Amino acid sequence: MPFRGLHGLDVRGKRVLVREDLNVPLRDGAIADYTRVDAAIATLRLLHAGGARTIVLSHLGRPDGHADPRLSLAPLAPALAARLGFPVAFARDCVGEAAQTAVAALHDGDVLLLENVRFHPGEERNDPQFAAALARLGDLYVNDAFGTAHRAHASTEGVAHLLPAYAGLLMEAELAALERLTRDPAEPFVCAIGGAKVKDKIGVFTHLMEHVTSFCVGGGMANTFLAARGIDVGTSLRDDDLQPARTIDALATAKGVRLHLPTDAVVAPRFDADADAHVVPIGAIGDAMILDIGPQTAAAYADVLVRARTIVFNGPMGVYEKPAYQNGTRTIGAAIARATAAGAVSVVGGGDAAAAAHLLGFADSVTHVSTGGGATLEFLEGRVLPGVAALET
Ligand code: ADP
Ligand code: MG
Repeated sequence: MPFRGLHGLDVRGKRVLVREDLNVPLRDGAIADYTRVDAAIATLRLLHAGGARTIVLSHLGRPDGHADPRLSLAPLAPALAARLGFPVAFARDCVGEAAQTAVAALHDGDVLLLENVRFHPGEERNDPQFAAALARLGDLYVNDAFGTAHRAHASTEGVAHLLPAYAGLLMEAELAALERLTRDPAEPFVCAIGGAKVKDKIGVFTHLMEHVTSFCVGGGMANTFLAARGIDVGTSLRDDDLQPARTIDALATAKGVRLHLPTDAVVAPRFDADADAHVVPIGAIGDAMILDIGPQTAAAYADVLVRARTIVFNGPMGVYEKPAYQNGTRTIGAAIARATAAGAVSVVGGGDAAAAAHLLGFADSVTHVSTGGGATLEFLEGRVLPGVAALET
């Protein structure tokens, strides 16, 4: 998709309205994770260096169109300032007088953060008047909020039609990395896919089926595929409806795509019985619950992955939040890291897959960890992201 980027753009003295995704997790009112703050910095630094008057827009949480002080973006201004090394101003509203006054006070190189766009009902409704009120604040619009690009909201989509629109550096990097997966990927192309349910990933399977050489299936969804093949998975998490798994299985066979399933598993009598976790072959699950792929499966998947030249990892292989069930995801992560070191292109996508990559220490050893949860999934489903489409030239 052709869109304009920021490189070479003269922004000096211009009011640049930048949509970032500063939707950080909060714990007791404090910022619990700075990943999204860090991800926004490159674009803000570039605009600062170019002498722009930068006006940052974002949402935080789900205030549903009402001002909610617990979801104020105010704490994000000092967080951005600490990283940028200069003060960041804050305005108590993203439209109207408070915003206009703060914008008018900007000098070249300054950065201003506006209050949560979702305090206004027009944001999620993509209300043209609200979009116009945002657009009045800027001369140019930059969308850097990849994580929100699957939403057609006023600050992600509507405003892009009202001002000259550009992709920010994070947006560009995300799209470049993800587009490498489907635009002439080097083969073998392996998708390691896990997570909770087949139901959530039908679109990902269907779209990637057109591109990949094989799938290595783990996580709760593997149980559904096993059950669909008539294997007893005991008390394991599985989808009630086995039909999507059957359809995907048949499609893979028809297309000559290998769909690898576990041959052994780490099981426990219950979800909260980690001390009793042990390995059994598939076919001997009994009443137990599958909570990770077994070591034989992990080794077989690692063998497939180290020989891959393109890799996408979406959805953990087990209940990676608990140490007893991390081995599968850790083993495939190490294999992805080895393949990457040998020249493969590897992308980690999906909220939990990315969290697992950070937790288990292989995030820095892959080509790209996508910052988008839902946006990345929709991209992997082959869907057009409205926030991206609006940037097209
Ligand atoms: P992603 O966010 O990467 O797309 P999902 O949201 O689909 O991944 O799935 C992640 C969740 O799946 C995690 O909370 C993990 O604990 C859970 N999970 C993985 N394997 C199993 C399993 N065997 N049984 C139950 N839950 C599992
Ligand atoms: Mg998830």
